[in-house]
This record gives sequence, C-alpha cells and structure tokens, in this order.
Amino acid sequence: MVAVRRAIAPLLLAGALLLTGCSDDAPAAPAPGPSTPSAPVTSSPSPSSTSVAPPATPTTSATPAAGKVVVLDPGHNGGNAAHPAEINRPVPAGRGQTKPCNTTGTSTDAGYPEHAFTFDVAQRVGKSLSDKGIRVVYTRQNDSGVGPCVDRRAAIGNEADADAVVSIHADGSTTAGANGFHVAYSSPPLNAAQGEPSTKLAQVVRDTMRTSGFSTSNYIGGNGLSARSDLAGLNLSTRPAVLVECGNMRNAAEAARMTSADGRQQYASAIAAAIEAYLAS
Ligand code: ZN
Repeated sequence: MVAVRRAIAPLLLAGALLLTGCSDDAPAAPAPGPSTPSAPVTSSPSPSSTSVAPPATPTTSATPAAGKVVVLDPGHNGGNAAHPAEINRPVPAGRGQTKPCNTTGTSTDAGYPEHAFTFDVAQRVGKSLSDKGIRVVYTRQNDSGVGPCVDRRAAIGNEADADAVVSIHADGSTTAGANGFHVAYSSPPLNAAQGEPSTKLAQVVRDTMRTSGFSTSNYIGGNGLSARSDLAGLNLSTRPAVLVECGNMRNAAEAARMTSADGRQQYASAIAAAIEAYLAS
C-alpha cells in the first residue's frame, strides 16, 4: 500500500501544479508525438487555394494589412489535462532554460476552461482578419488535442514568417480584486524582432484594447504591459510576438464576460483591430 501511495502522490502533485494559474505558460510547444496533428492550417485565403479569390479583390474590405501573415496561438488545449506525461515533458524555453511542453491553463470558478476561451477567441480573431484579406495560421486546429508544446508553437510562427504572432490567454489569479488585461513581450530582447517590433505590437494591442473598453491589469505589469524573460513562446520567437492575458478568469465580472459569446466577441474584435492597426502601421 505504501508503494502504491508513493506512486500516486507525484501524479496528484503534478496535476495540482498544472491546474494553477496560467501566468507561467507561454505560447509554443512542439507536438508530443509524430501522430499529433501539429501542422499549421492556413485559413482562407490560402495562397494554394484554387477556389478562393485572392485577397486583393476590390469588392472586399481589404486593408493595407491584406496579404500579411498572422499567427494566432490559443493557449493550452482541451486534451492536456488527460495527458500529464506528455505536457510535462521539458522542452527548450529560451535563455538556456526548459519548461514543461504545455500546461492545462486555468478556469473560471464555475469551471469554464481557459483553453476553451482562448480557442474561441482565436477563431473569432482569425475570422475577422481573414475577412480583411490577412492570412491566418493557427497553432492548434481544435480544442480537444494535446499541446502543441510551447517551443513548437513558437516554431509555427517562425516558419510562417509571420508579420505578427499573438498568443491568447487568460489568467487565474485568486488575489482579491485582481482584474484587467495585460500584454507580455520578451525582454530583454533576444533578437531584432523581439525589440522594437514586438514592443510596438504590445503597445498597439494595449492601446486598442483600452480604447475598446477593457481595463488594464491592476496586479501584473504596468500600464497594461509586462516585460517578461520567462515565456518560452516569446523567447523562441524570431517574429514580432506578444502574449495577451485577456483578464482574470477568477474575477467574477471578467469571468462573466469571458463565458458569454458576446463577451468573447468583444475581446476578439479588440484584438483583431489591434493586429490590423499594427500591420497597417
Ligand atoms: Zn494560459
């Protein structure tokens, strides 16, 4: 019995750790195995598509950003919790560090999971951008898989030669009154893209979300921005990249907004507008 207890305890501990907040998870992570669907799928309009008109059609609402490439990275995945060994596997996190392949993310007090929120918001952002002629690549194609790992997520953005990479997350702080969004960027920068381009992207996302009615975080970063050296997806990116923590899922008001489709569309509209503004600048 003792032996059994010893065997189970670490698993319970690992599970408990995985279910804590999302603040140390980053975008990225390679697929746990060769059979995992990790190939990025390009939404319309695809360059290889023969049935979709090119984005320059004058009848569309194409913007100066048309034709550019955006990688959207919805944090976590619905199958992560059931595959602790796969998502706990250490992977490169940049700056000589390693991190778990992926984490489960957080949830609202009522149990609405972060992975579902991020997936839905990313889909909504992607649709808005695609409608403007922007090519959208997602780091995961559904909300029922495992991973991909954080380093793989970063690689997807790099391989797509993305003009902008936006990871979408929500936090899970239990600090009383903690609320608001913040935008994380890699600092100190490890390459040119992590310098001015990424900080500019972070500022544009912050400014646009603020003018869209979202409040900046009252508990992380400063003025809606957070310089981070520990987020693998940002560290490993060679493209302009940021991570948006949309809000605190443990805050009742923000949880209500995140749980509703209308609320998620508000987040998505603000993020999409920010990406467009950045690409057009
Ligand atoms: Zn997260």
